[in-house]
Amino acid sequence: LGASGTFWELIERRAALTPDRPVLIQDDRTLTFGELRSRCERVAAGLWGMGVRPGSVVAWQLPTRIETVLLSFALTRIGAVQSPVIPFYRDREAGFALRESKAGFFAVPGAWRGFDHTAMAHRLAAEAEHPPLVFEAYESLPDGDPSVLPPPPADGTAVRWIYWTSGTTSDPKGVLHTDRSLIAGGSCLAHALRLSADDVGSVAFPFAHVGGPDYAVMLLLYGFPAVLFEHFAMPDALEGYRRHGVTVAGGSTAFYSMFLTEQRKAPDRMLIPTLRLLAGGGAPKPPEIYHSVVREMGIQLTHGYGMTEVPMITMGAPDDTTEHLAETEGRPPEGMEIRITDEDGKPLPYGTDGEVRLRGEAVCKGYLNPEASAAAFDADGFLITGDVGHVEASGHLVLTGRLKDIIIRKGENISAKEIEDLLHRHPGVGDVAVIGLPDPERGERVCAVVEQPAGAAPLTLPEITGYLRAEGLSVHKLPEQLEVVAALPRNEALRKILKYRLRERFSTPGPPGVRGH
Ligand code: ATP
Ligand code: MG
Repeated sequence: LGASGTFWELIERRAALTPDRPVLIQDDRTLTFGELRSRCERVAAGLWGMGVRPGSVVAWQLPTRIETVLLSFALTRIGAVQSPVIPFYRDREAGFALRESKAGFFAVPGAWRGFDHTAMAHRLAAEAEHPPLVFEAYESLPDGDPSVLPPPPADGTAVRWIYWTSGTTSDPKGVLHTDRSLIAGGSCLAHALRLSADDVGSVAFPFAHVGGPDYAVMLLLYGFPAVLFEHFAMPDALEGYRRHGVTVAGGSTAFYSMFLTEQRKAPDRMLIPTLRLLAGGGAPKPPEIYHSVVREMGIQLTHGYGMTEVPMITMGAPDDTTEHLAETEGRPPEGMEIRITDEDGKPLPYGTDGEVRLRGEAVCKGYLNPEASAAAFDADGFLITGDVGHVEASGHLVLTGRLKDIIIRKGENISAKEIEDLLHRHPGVGDVAVIGLPDPERGERVCAVVEQPAGAAPLTLPEITGYLRAEGLSVHKLPEQLEVVAALPRNEALRKILKYRLRERFSTPGPPGVRGH
């Protein structure tokens, strides 16, 4: 890292090193590192003209495209505080983000994918106590003469990013990041994946996700380009991967499944000839998916553990053993401290499950809400994640669930993930979420909610319990309820399954037939 540790410093350094190399590719457009720097300065000057100053809060709800990256980096040039909002969010979530962050500016894409974002932004502004200045930033961006700009920010440790958690367990939380915390995450990720200047990356997830700047750091440090996908849909996206010779595809568990589905349509040929690595994280990955990708696609898969608060915690390395890649979340990079503790924060030995706590430069500074912030860190300054797992003697982390995802039946702790991993291997199961439902006699009962693959024979409860018993699951963990749904509820950012919705939906007894024994 350079003297200030800011994003803008990284951009300047890379633009000086390899100005003519491409950095962003989208459809038929390519932007070089040199152009990135000069265009960002012009956009920053335009924003300055609109009144954006160091510390101004600028919310943006924009899709993954070149202009979005330019706007985001232009804000780092000024030293504004940016709050990216996932483009699929509507009044409720976007309004929440605007209010909580007290945004003074709000950038939207206009009408995008059948939804009028500008109208929504004006609706929200009309209701707001401090209405933000709404502007469109899709095809054209603010523009101005860079000579109006003051020097770039000199301090990488100021809070300049507010990201929103997925809201899987409760309302989203506004997470405070600095340039330094995000750069620390991105540089570890690039290192873990063994990337180089010869790679061609791809961003198929919302750039408004915390993985966005993480990815950008990799491009800036190593000087390779990424293909941006504004509309990611299979099989259309394959053309983009092939045409631009993508070597590393990124995403999460749902992406791996989409690639597999395409591969299975033509099993004898490489889906994307240049692709060597699928890399992702942020959601549980059943070991079965790892094995299928390696076996059927003939490429490597590395998966990691990350959260909005700490975008990169652990990552599988391409040269890890098969077993470690399939069964663990990989190892933490240098500088990331993982502590597994009991409820009181007492450290536990290797191999013992406990709460996962984290300390290191890549950890966020806290939450927007000061009370949430105070409760988030323990006395030693470790972030309390709410996740449960253990560290093996080799240093690999195994996640076994979330504190909120542990089902307690008759006082026995049951890990939803253990049952999910087993059910994933059943041919009648496309995807599955195992949840605990309130039960007057047992405290909680185990319920499996299953999405079936097209054409599969309908599942029954005796079928899955028989299967799970044959697989060695102990009797007290067997699901007592099965629900088959057309589609599991998922969030838009990472396609993560929203278990709280399932708990709401299935807590009250439904029709008989698929109920417990
Ligand atoms: P909220 O905090 O608002 O309830 P969230 O925790 O789902 O939502 P994110 O920050 O997007 O929001 O997700 C981080 C969480 O995702 C982690 O705390 C962990 O529970 C889960 N997760 C991340 N990576 C993995 C992984 N590799 N395996 C299993 N779970 C993972
Ligand atoms: Mg969380």
